[in-house]
Amino acid sequence: MAKLHLHPGKERSLLRRHPWIFAGSVARLEGHARPGDTVEVLAADGRALGRAAFSPASQIRARMWTFDPGQPVDHAFFKRRVREAVAWRQAHPDLARQEGVRLVHGEADGLPGVIADRYGAVVVVQLTSAGAEKWREAIVAALAAATGCATIYERSDSDVRRLEGLEPRVGALLGELPAAPLLIEENGVRMEVDVVGGHKTGFYLDQRDNRLLTARLAAGRRVLNCFCYSGGFSLQALAGGATEVLSIDSSAPALEIAARNLAHNPQLDPARAHWREADVFAALRELRQSGERFDLIVLDPPKFAPSAAHAQRAARAYKDINLFAFRLLAAGGILTTYSCSGGIGLELFQKIVAGAASDAGVDARIVHRLAAAPDHPVGLAAPEGEYLKGLAIQIGQAAEAAPVRPD
Ligand code: SAH
Repeated sequence: MAKLHLHPGKERSLLRRHPWIFAGSVARLEGHARPGDTVEVLAADGRALGRAAFSPASQIRARMWTFDPGQPVDHAFFKRRVREAVAWRQAHPDLARQEGVRLVHGEADGLPGVIADRYGAVVVVQLTSAGAEKWREAIVAALAAATGCATIYERSDSDVRRLEGLEPRVGALLGELPAAPLLIEENGVRMEVDVVGGHKTGFYLDQRDNRLLTARLAAGRRVLNCFCYSGGFSLQALAGGATEVLSIDSSAPALEIAARNLAHNPQLDPARAHWREADVFAALRELRQSGERFDLIVLDPPKFAPSAAHAQRAARAYKDINLFAFRLLAAGGILTTYSCSGGIGLELFQKIVAGAASDAGVDARIVHRLAAAPDHPVGLAAPEGEYLKGLAIQIGQAAEAAPVRPD
């Protein structure tokens, strides 16, 4: 096994169990290692720190598999780690009964670069690091053993693979996808999961608890769901007793799934659901011009800032949509607003939203602080894993109506 020697002091974050070794921390590689190979990690004084996956193409030069220098990284290692990750979810009172659940959430499950989501009898994996790529077979075997699922499908087509020098890879790894659409039940609502063509692994599992909160807040309210994708928040709002739900997304294929999802749930009143294919930024302006008001608004935009480098432009976009949303709320209304941008922390996000409320001229208070569901844990030593943040904000008086256009 090759040895990765660190610069003096660069062992500190590893001793706190942060799993990443940046290129700048590496003094030299002793021996030869190919992408994904396991290397022994040594502090400058020669102390062994554990074993990591080597990734020469990435700024994250190595990711720790284990902080135990004596632990072999082999098939048995992956079997154990995957089994622990799956078992923990099975023992969790809220997760055990879910048909859609994230089984492995990368670093926080001790498996950097490995994502695995289960949708009923199908597991979808996404491998995003050179180390995970190297151990594909072991990971697939471990997932099959831990879940008993006969179908494992790969969706390794996320952009981050390029940073590791990896090509996209999609397709069946074990068994075959069923011919019929894949349906899961999420808290009483049936949802179609597009494993092959959908976003991420087909569905936004991380928002499960927040969709349920929407259901609980929606009774008797007129709801606006922006960036609705396949309608997860919309259908939960209907299930919770919303009087009307207007949902907006710019993607026609997403809205087609949303329409099918409504049909999969005959318990919901389709007359209360309205869908609009539009750019949210433009649609919010139009709604204000036409004097519309909503009692509950959901803003769950795509990742405006994938990294800190995009933060400034992203901040403007978040400010704009939140400002428009505040202006559309009826008195006493609630805005639930999210950011899944790793480049925008909770503190900054809260500041942006506060600025938007102030510009809209509304008094506002936080009534819920929101995050990803518990099958997306965050390593305490690696808080940058906390990408999804949200706030539920209630306003007092409504903002003033839009000035009448001179035309
Ligand atoms: N809330 C959803 C997930 C939202 S993902 C859920 O719970 O499942 C973000 C969505 O925003 C995608 O469906 C994408 O098509 C849409 N989108 C991205 N930019 C947009 C824009 N400018 N206007 C409208 N929709 C947009």
